[in-house]
Amino acid sequence: MNPNKKGLNTICTHTGEVKDKQFKGAISPLYMSTSYAFEDVDVKRYPRYFNTPNQESLCKKIAALEHAESALIFGSGMAAISTALMAFLKAGDHIVLQQTLYGGTYNLVTEEFHKYGIEYSFTEGWQPEAFEDKIQENTKVLYIETPSNPLLTVTDLDAIGKLSKKHGLISMIDNTFASPVNQNPIDFDIDIVIHSATKYMGGHSDICAGAVASTEENIKRIFALAKNFGGSLSDYTVWLLERSMKTMGIRVRAQNENAQRMAEYLDAHQDIGAVYYPGLPNHPGHRVAKAQMKGFGGMLSFELHEGLDASQFQKSLQLIKPSMSLAGVESTVLSPSQTSHALLGAEERKRQGIKDGLIRFSVGIEETEDLIADIEQALNKIKSKGTAVTRS
Ligand SMILES: *Cc1c(COP(=O)(O)O)cnc(C)c1O
Repeated sequence: MNPNKKGLNTICTHTGEVKDKQFKGAISPLYMSTSYAFEDVDVKRYPRYFNTPNQESLCKKIAALEHAESALIFGSGMAAISTALMAFLKAGDHIVLQQTLYGGTYNLVTEEFHKYGIEYSFTEGWQPEAFEDKIQENTKVLYIETPSNPLLTVTDLDAIGKLSKKHGLISMIDNTFASPVNQNPIDFDIDIVIHSATKYMGGHSDICAGAVASTEENIKRIFALAKNFGGSLSDYTVWLLERSMKTMGIRVRAQNENAQRMAEYLDAHQDIGAVYYPGLPNHPGHRVAKAQMKGFGGMLSFELHEGLDASQFQKSLQLIKPSMSLAGVESTVLSPSQTSHALLGAEERKRQGIKDGLIRFSVGIEETEDLIADIEQALNKIKSKGTAVTRS
């Protein structure tokens, strides 16, 4: 399938680049024009048509990275998700979605779909049978997210690809947590791959963007809607994203390595309870992750032992910052129960296994020893405070 046989870091660095014929500069020139002369009646370049030189150039890179024929970039991950979903759903249709989803996607489905007469079901769990259970006569799309947020559950791509083919459905995946470095779902017959490029593709916590990769035919269908919805990305941001993606391979591989070491350290730690990371052999999704991922990613979650206060712990960290977002080169933590999954409510969180003390950890590229030292000093601080409180 891969139209570009080059290796990951070569694609990241070069594929799609705009040649500077005039000055022979090393990088793609930035075209800020919103107005272009007609090339012919079929090619009208305009930012909202997703076809300016920089937009087209970045789409080629993303398509090659995801082993897809074609790709589109959007103004945010949610613009990519909503446009892709609406391109394949209409009134009277039904979609099956994985139980644990990114909060924004969950809100889109539960707040908006009823207005358009689109029916939906969430699975109970993430096993292939959980999806098959919910398929009905009018089901059109299966939607998955793996590894999932925040418990890093692993959905079997091969099984979902086969299930959707068996029932004649379109399968879609939010591949944000894995990034194209670690997981290429099209190789497992998943139809449409979506990214919040705000995360690993951007990687420096300074870009908001989204992407969709699929066949030429599917991308045409999504584009038809995209130009009407108007969620295109400004050329300056496209250009900056191209710059960021040159180092995506080396960034994400460094994050994989750091996350593995942090997960092993936390798993062996006397003050830490459960650790959720697909790279740990005790993780329930480890075997499937090994079969479908090239690296286990930079995201993990963990719980402190009972009696240790997760919010005091996060406040005591000095190097690792509390943050709403993820996937930057800097390490960050977040409490899903208080932020990303607050809207779910206590009961639904409990059903999904998201404890109040759960901490989601986006591992950056800092030296592992420094991250460990930060966690050690924060644990020591809250433990000594704990004793002080008991004594007084
Ligand atoms: C952040 C995120 C999104 C939404 O992306 P935006 O760029 O914020 O619109 C979707 N899915 C996942 C898994 C995310 O982490």
